[in-house]
Amino acid sequence: SGGLMAGKRGLIMGVANNRSIAWGIAKAVRDAGAELALTYQGDALKKRVEPLAAELGALVAGHCDVTDPSTIDAVFGEIERAWGGLDFLVHAIAFSDKDELTGRYVDTTAENFARTMQISVYSLTAVVQRAEKLMTKGGSVLTLTYYGAEKVMPHYNVMGVAKSALEASVRYLAADLGPNGIRVNAISAGPIKTLAASGIGDFRYILKWNEYNAPLRRTVTIEEVGDAGLYFLSDLSRSVTGEIHHVDSGYHVVGMKAVDAPDI
Ligand code: NAD
Repeated sequence: SGGLMAGKRGLIMGVANNRSIAWGIAKAVRDAGAELALTYQGDALKKRVEPLAAELGALVAGHCDVTDPSTIDAVFGEIERAWGGLDFLVHAIAFSDKDELTGRYVDTTAENFARTMQISVYSLTAVVQRAEKLMTKGGSVLTLTYYGAEKVMPHYNVMGVAKSALEASVRYLAADLGPNGIRVNAISAGPIKTLAASGIGDFRYILKWNEYNAPLRRTVTIEEVGDAGLYFLSDLSRSVTGEIHHVDSGYHVVGMKAVDAPDI
């Protein structure tokens, strides 16, 4: 098709099901004409991702667990064989032990801290290392972050520390890869009920709080994040890199409870 993304090929990592933010982005860029490849994490998610890939006419680039570098190499090997190059990459991957996404940050264990950082932060750099070699005509990389990187949010804990490091990684990667025409940006999404979010304590309360207090008085959808993703992955954002862009109904500008917010 002749859309904004016509002629562009991209790898989308982080689709778990049809509620995933990565799925919202995949649909938006596919509708605009992109050709896609998806990865899945393990056999349980393979069964969910394969029919979703079929729905978009996407290549299934295989299993990828970012804690096992050989699986990352296998995926990029598959992309190189199939396409010989890459125009964009979506990184929508994060993990922390849910026992530590509640209570106090100070109680974080060294083991879960390291694992959270490896999966949620280092993995962006790991995939960008491989993508750079395939983005010979320039490219666009997009990751997902959250306001808990900037301000303390209840229960977000070690994931907030990880998202701060992820946002710093976006800036360093943007500086390194800019000379090659490769852009690196992040969308800071408002809370959305996904599989990953279900691990966060009191998530329903967080959703309500955002709905009552965000300037637009509603939460955001994966379709809305997808449309912002389309901007970052297309040439519309061709002079934008190193940016953290909030898609959160404006929540991040608010300093206090709204006067009309009900008590919850
Ligand atoms: P999701 O559960 O649909 O997606 C998370 C993905 O991470 C899954 O596909 C999972 O397979 C993948 N993943 C976890 N560990 C992995 C590993 N070791 N190797 C490879 N993949 C692994 O949830 P989501 O909310 O769509 O999360 C996508 C991104 O969006 C995450 O970075 C998350 O932190 C971020 N985000 C989510 C929200 C929200 O409220 N849902 C808000 C802001 C940012």
